[in-house]
Amino acid sequence: MHFTLHLSSACNMKCDYCYAPPRDGAVMTETVGRRVMDMAAETNENSCGIVFFGGEPLLHKNLVHSLVEYGEHHPSGKPFHFKVTTNGVLLDDDFIAYAVRHGIVTALSLDGTAPAHDAHRRLANGMPSWDRVLPRLKALLTARPYSPVFTTVNPDTAPYLSDSVAFLMGLGVKYMIVSLNYAADWTDKTFRILEREYKKLAALYLQWTREERKFYFSPFEVKLSSHINRHCYQKERCELAKKQVSVDAGGFLYPCVQFASMGPDSAWCIGNVFDGINEAARTRIQQESMQEKAGCQDCALNARCNNTCGCLNWQTTGDLNTISPVLCRYEQMLMKTSDRIGEKLYRERNPQFLQKHYNEAYPYLSLIEDLEKGVIQAARMTNPE
Ligand code: SF4
Ligand code: SF4
Repeated sequence: MHFTLHLSSACNMKCDYCYAPPRDGAVMTETVGRRVMDMAAETNENSCGIVFFGGEPLLHKNLVHSLVEYGEHHPSGKPFHFKVTTNGVLLDDDFIAYAVRHGIVTALSLDGTAPAHDAHRRLANGMPSWDRVLPRLKALLTARPYSPVFTTVNPDTAPYLSDSVAFLMGLGVKYMIVSLNYAADWTDKTFRILEREYKKLAALYLQWTREERKFYFSPFEVKLSSHINRHCYQKERCELAKKQVSVDAGGFLYPCVQFASMGPDSAWCIGNVFDGINEAARTRIQQESMQEKAGCQDCALNARCNNTCGCLNWQTTGDLNTISPVLCRYEQMLMKTSDRIGEKLYRERNPQFLQKHYNEAYPYLSLIEDLEKGVIQAARMTNPE
């Protein structure tokens, strides 16, 4: 289980789709941060995962530095791995070099081309942010080519989606996580535009795979995997408070990132870092979120669907088990499109596709290949992503 540390709720941006709009408030103390890491060491048998999150975590670089140092010399002797999710505005060369030295995976949010990004991702003063963030993405990719990029699609930016993905891949992005703003007001018209864009993306996915380019495009990869690795996909699906716990600045625990702004008096608080996890509260939330979803029982796609994501359901419908029609339609479209891609590439016996989806050793083989080709420098071998 990994721990996501919401270092504060402050941010230097003001994205209009932010599910936890920035606000002033306490910054996590080093004592709380250290206690989270102690909990991670107590909870995990082996490696301990820590994610620095916000608001914007790079507003608190000194705290990140001191907690990384604590993890690197943790009394338990257990290895820690770190990740930071940033909007990129404060991602300077010094921090990138520091992240490389300490093996911190740095994930950056960027919504694609300038019109797609600036439509919603604005600086705190209301100005566009693309011109500020793009050079930082380029610097990050130079240092760590497999750094994840998070892209959010809104109804009004759907028309830019395929151009945005092609643009980012053209810059050298290899690891793209794309998700919808499910809470937005999607209409039949905007959804049709989205479908049209996904058809274009399917053609690009086929083209790039046939060109033997290495990349990860989350919407298709996840659905391809849900078909190919059906037997273990169930285990991979999101379950509240099972694989990760969120910690707010005061040290209170929540079952996922979306709940961390709800506060310790809410029904979503499952303990605090000093007293530990309240198992009764955790079990109550888990059991509640695992109920069969109305309308899904007889759906042939049920076992492959993202309908188990309780925080997403809660964010969009106000209920852990009620599925938003947007999610349902998106899942159906993704599975249909991904299956067509998979059928074509399988029939061709495309080596890149077969390696990626049928060879469990692919990540390691791929890393060795990249080292040989110099895509990743040997000095970083101790910190592979
Ligand atoms: S950068 Fe992230 S935390 Fe800040 S306003 Fe945007 S979505 Fe919210
Ligand atoms: S596709 Fe729709 S009906 Fe089918 S399992 Fe998913 S949410 Fe339920």
